[in-house]
Amino acid sequence: MSTIFSKIIAGELPCFKVYEDEIVLAFLDINPINPGHTLVVPKKEFIDGIETDPDILAHIIKVGQKIAQAQKAALRCGGVNFLMSNGAAAGQEVFHTHLHIIPRHEGDGVFNSVAHDKYQNGEAGGLAAAITQAII
Ligand code: AMP
Repeated sequence: MSTIFSKIIAGELPCFKVYEDEIVLAFLDINPINPGHTLVVPKKEFIDGIETDPDILAHIIKVGQKIAQAQKAALRCGGVNFLMSNGAAAGQEVFHTHLHIIPRHEGDGVFNSVAHDKYQNGEAGGLAAAITQAII
């Protein structure tokens, strides 16, 4: 099912374009976490990163790296987050694969409320083994 991103890629809706090649389009997020927050979107439709052709996913990351380097130079940001939400449970809202490239500044407070947990004794080994066994 097509999303708003396919309309942007087709030129039917406007965007502030940052970069384009034959595989991806990158444009500013309309509701930036920080100014310059950019989305890298494959022109071919995939629901999320887990479903995306691995070669295209690799290209998305490569372009994301170039944009992060450009953000550091152009925006003088101290760091950059790469973020991809895959699935509604992970917070994905637009179901067309996209990589967020988020410029970060010291003390900007972004993601401050993310809580990390600790494993109970013996829990981590079982989880690592379960994931390892499921890798195909
Ligand atoms: P996600 O929650 O990872 O699916 O993120 C979707 C992102 O798309 C959000 O950060 C939105 O602000 C952004 N977005 C939605 N519509 C547009 C649009 N028309 N142009 C640019 N960014 C958009």
